Parts: sequence; C-alpha cells; structure tokens
Amino acid sequence: MQVEVPEYTVAEDVAVDPSRTALIIVDMQNDFVQAEGALPIEDAAATIGSIRRLRTFARDQGMSIFYTQDSHYAGDPEFDLWGEHCTVGTPGWQVVEDLAPDEATGDLIFRKDRYDGFFGTNLETTLRQREIDTLIICGTVANICVLYTAASAAIRWYHVILPIDAVSAINEFDLQLTIRQVGWLFRGTITRSEALRASDE
Ligand code: ZN
Repeated sequence: MQVEVPEYTVAEDVAVDPSRTALIIVDMQNDFVQAEGALPIEDAAATIGSIRRLRTFARDQGMSIFYTQDSHYAGDPEFDLWGEHCTVGTPGWQVVEDLAPDEATGDLIFRKDRYDGFFGTNLETTLRQREIDTLIICGTVANICVLYTAASAAIRWYHVILPIDAVSAINEFDLQLTIRQVGWLFRGTITRSEALRASDE
C-alpha cells in the first residue's frame, strides 16, 4: 500500500522567548538508543547531534531543560506489550552518556511509566510555576512518547515546536504521522534544530 503524505511547512526561522520556553528531551535512554538496548530505535543515535545542538541553544539562553525518562519496575503491565525495558536502576534505563542530564545546572528529570510525559508526573506543575507556554519537544520514539507528550501538551494549550531532525521513529511512516499530528492537528511548529533562535536576538 502507498499513502501520500499531506504537505507541510518546515519553518526556517523560529523565534522563541527563552523565559517562556522549555526544551523537553524525551526518552533518549540506552534501551532505545543503543543497538544492544532492549528496544532499539535504529535512527535514534543519529539524532544525538541535533539534540545536543538544541540543548546548547537552550543552555546558552538560560532556558529550562527537561528530560523524560521511561521508568518501569518489575511486573509493569507495559512489559506485556513491549517486553522488559527501561527498568529503574539498569544501564538501559539511563539517559545516553552524550546527552546526560546536568542536574547541577538545573536540568530536571521526569520519570514516567506511560507514553505521556505529563501522566503521573509533575511536569505540568513545573511548567506553570515557571510560566512556560512553549515546548520544544525532541527525542524518541516519535509516534509514541514524543507524540503522546506533544498531544498532552497541546490539549493543555502549550505551543509545541517539533524539530524533526531531533526526533526518531521506527519507520518513516511513523515519523510522518507524528509530524502530521503535531503540525496539523495540534497546530504546532514543524522545524529543524538549527532554525531556532531567541526572540530578542
Ligand atoms: Zn516503557
């Protein structure tokens, strides 16, 4: 079967207010990123450079940097669907070394046990406290934890920015459907990591 991807625009210049914007790095953990991980996403390692670019930009601008970390314990019902992965305390659960959070600098980690980074976490409370209204969302897996976190953000009226070179999927269809949902349904901004800049620059 062939399907046609509806056209979308990739914004070439995206200005954000650093004081009202957060970068969310979704589930860049060894079990997803490393070839020997429990649920490897082949394209994930290739996004590390783009995510590091986003993180450097966020850091330079003093923006909030948040990580989601898929976190399960023995007997989690998700293991029936996906097999054992991201078990708390295991190497596979850790964020990849090249993107390791710097908690001393203020990076926050939100442990989650479902696809949605808002579900069962205090992400929303944190965003409210910091008066953030825009989220740059990157990481993996595109149509799973990235999309469900973006959806959850959008229904709370956060503006979502999706840098597509910093998102990885199991296959091209899943990536394109993620872009379609964020750009069309959630009216988010589809862009690339190098297009972001601070609005006061
Ligand atoms: Zn999981």
